[in-house]
Amino acid sequence: MSLEGRVALVTGGSRGIGRAIVEALADDGAKVAFVYASNSAAADSVVADLKAKGQEVMAIQADVRSKEAADKTIDTVVEAWGSLDILVNNAGIIRDGLLAVMDATQWQDVIDTNLTSVFNFCQAATRQMMSQRYGRIINMSSVAADTSNPGQANYAASKGGIEGFTRCIATELARRGVTANAVAPGFIETDMTEAVVEAAGKEIKKKIPVRRLGAPSDIANAVLYFAQESSSYVTGQILKVDGGLTLGGM
Ligand code: NAP
Repeated sequence: MSLEGRVALVTGGSRGIGRAIVEALADDGAKVAFVYASNSAAADSVVADLKAKGQEVMAIQADVRSKEAADKTIDTVVEAWGSLDILVNNAGIIRDGLLAVMDATQWQDVIDTNLTSVFNFCQAATRQMMSQRYGRIINMSSVAADTSNPGQANYAASKGGIEGFTRCIATELARRGVTANAVAPGFIETDMTEAVVEAAGKEIKKKIPVRRLGAPSDIANAVLYFAQESSSYVTGQILKVDGGLTLGGM
């Protein structure tokens, strides 16, 4: 177990991709804290499953849109476990709508939850990571950052923002032993995609070269790679994990 003794924090860790990341990091030996918004039943189930395996886990209810909440969350983790080695900014939402009818709240909710949250948690975490001279930051982007789905201007802007942000902080933090990378998932089966999979799952699979939708564990595996100490020479990278969806060969 290569993450033994490491401390990790995952935002949006109660469901979907975040939950798979929490499980993968804990299975590899890390102590894992995770943030959720409001679904305490889902959070409790993650805690119960990890504790049953004898793993150290902490659930924190917080709104990732709040800078104050981010600072408090990082302080709570460092006070409890003495360090913060791995930060995974995974929490995210969709509020799709065509530009002509998108209201300001739809825009702002997505930008605040998906992008401002990444600033909030990275800034709070890097103070700790720079003083440790060690850290691994992994931000959750999407293939939507550089494709063009109608109705997702807000979501694409948030994810494109994450990619630019990740590259910039990677250069700022490199000399302090802190790497920053992003994972860009394709179509992954979670609550977020449930409705569209129900409506068009078969058609979507035909567009994916590997001919299946992604599982949350496919994304967790990529995160696990960036989280390792041995990934120290990889920074500022965006890794698409999409079964070949964006290769354009179909
Ligand atoms: P999901 O199943 O809808 O889960 C979202 C998670 O984020 C939940 O844990 C939720 O907490 C948390 N969350 C949402 N708003 C929050 C807030 N304001 N404060 C704190 N936590 C908040 O989503 P998912 O499909 O796993 O997606 C995870 C990430 O992957 C997102 O960034 C998404 O954009 C990205 N992604 C997903 C796909 C896909 O196909 N699924 C593709 C590309 C990228 P509660 O449980 O309390 O609600």
